[in-house]
Amino acid sequence: MTIMKFTKSVIKNLFSKPATRVYPQEKRIYPERTRGHVDIDIDTCIFCGMCQRKCPTGAIQVDRNEKTWTIQRFSCIQCSSCADNCPKKCLKMGNSYPEPSASQTVDIYQKKEETALKAAE
Ligand code: SF4
Ligand code: SF4
Repeated sequence: MTIMKFTKSVIKNLFSKPATRVYPQEKRIYPERTRGHVDIDIDTCIFCGMCQRKCPTGAIQVDRNEKTWTIQRFSCIQCSSCADNCPKKCLKMGNSYPEPSASQTVDIYQKKEETALKAAE
């Protein structure tokens, strides 16, 4: 009886579509509201540090003097607390996940000095 069940299951699996996709050749299309990663519009940031204070995992570091905003991607749990509490609304949740990596991914964003921007105009 058991061998019959087993054979039936093997034949069914041989002729059905695989349950998994061939990653990375076949990319997943994420639903619109997936909270995959944090995006920043660094030009709008005022370096108030609110996102850093509201992050439950300590994934964000804000340096007001250097005008840098840093995120440790592997520490982020995609809770959206930073984006929900940013007074300038310059953070948003992108719907794709960071690429797999063998090392810790740290992204650093730096705002260009306003004087440098003015000089370039
Ligand atoms: S809360 Fe918003 S404005 Fe404040 S430091 Fe974070 S990203 Fe910048
Ligand atoms: S989404 Fe949550 S865990 Fe990720 S950086 Fe923002 S507050 Fe921190």
